[in-house]
Amino acid sequence: MTRRAEPASAVQTGEAAGVLTVDLDALAANWRLLRDRMGGPEAGRACAAVVKADGYGLGAAPVARRLASEGCATFFVAHAEEGETLRRALPEAEIIVLNGLLPGEATLYSCHRLAPCLNDTGQVRAWLEHCAEAGPTPAALHVDTGMTRLGLDPQDLDAVDLDALNALPGLVVMSHLACADEPDHPLNRRQQAAFAEIRPRFPAARASLANSSGLFLGADYRFDLGRPGYSLYGGNPTPSAGANPMRPVVRLQVPVLQVREIRGRRTVGYGATAGTAPPAWIATLAAGYADGYLRAMSNRGAVFIDGRACPVTGRVSMDLLTVDVTEAVQAGSEIRPGTLADLIDARHTIDDVAGHAGTIGYEILTSLGSRYRRRYPGEIEAARPAQGSA
Ligand SMILES: *Cc1c(COP(=O)(O)O)cnc(C)c1O
Repeated sequence: MTRRAEPASAVQTGEAAGVLTVDLDALAANWRLLRDRMGGPEAGRACAAVVKADGYGLGAAPVARRLASEGCATFFVAHAEEGETLRRALPEAEIIVLNGLLPGEATLYSCHRLAPCLNDTGQVRAWLEHCAEAGPTPAALHVDTGMTRLGLDPQDLDAVDLDALNALPGLVVMSHLACADEPDHPLNRRQQAAFAEIRPRFPAARASLANSSGLFLGADYRFDLGRPGYSLYGGNPTPSAGANPMRPVVRLQVPVLQVREIRGRRTVGYGATAGTAPPAWIATLAAGYADGYLRAMSNRGAVFIDGRACPVTGRVSMDLLTVDVTEAVQAGSEIRPGTLADLIDARHTIDDVAGHAGTIGYEILTSLGSRYRRRYPGEIEAARPAQGSA
């Protein structure tokens, strides 16, 4: 192993914990595809972006700035604090907060021009009282059509002042699908029908029902405003149809720390859950469950080094993971400390990794650790703070 030629990519200084590349050009292409599915502005419909949980773990500010530059005008976050942070990145955009209005929060919302999702009759009353003093201010109304999580029961609509709600500027009426990733599930049709039934009570509002998978259910699920999250980040919105229509956005590369030939019969890692016998080469990588490489992936799946699959062997530990590189070494790959392994990429997607971990890609994304150096090809520069900062 004396040749200098280096087929596998190598780590740069400052990237010892790994590199998470978020391809914002691919993200933008994904948003445009979903916008086009909505029918676009000509059809009077729009596509928002859900950037809660820091843009599904990828970085809400760079994600949202790029999408805003593509023409995305509406962003959803979970918490008011997330909205406050996002407002600094997006001085102009409409920001809607899904988790609703907690007592005492109305001023925070007004101050940062955030629209709350009003999730119960008390929140509707509180917001209308706030608007009576502060002036009419945008909000969304969340009606529960079958998710049984957040939102008012359709029957509760009789107990709210619909005229006052309808007089709010920029009102959005929304509901959320429970089974959109299972196109044949009967609950989809029931939720669509329940939502279509209440929609006429809000003549001036924009209606919003579909998340990523909902946008692929059919034209009657689209209404006025699409609300995708996962698919923007490259997740497959049509898992039962197989092929993913979205472009991969995430690439996770982690350096090899050590590689060695194991010369006897040995076990690997905590609990001695894996064994090796010669000829065997094991590489130890700089990521573990503290970085979101879930412990459930112990002895499951593979990473790619120099384009070759190297199976995960032994338990994933907090900061480290061990992979069997015997085949790669025998095939001539030069693997040494600093060589980068691909943990997530276009061949081995967030959905694939989730499959190995027995979870969903949403959890893989939102678990991606804070120690990775994040890179954003296609990034839009932050606006100067001189104007428009809230
Ligand atoms: C998270 C969320 C979305 C986005 O869902 P995806 O499946 O990620 O597209 C849309 N609406 C609500 C209410 C959500 O909580």
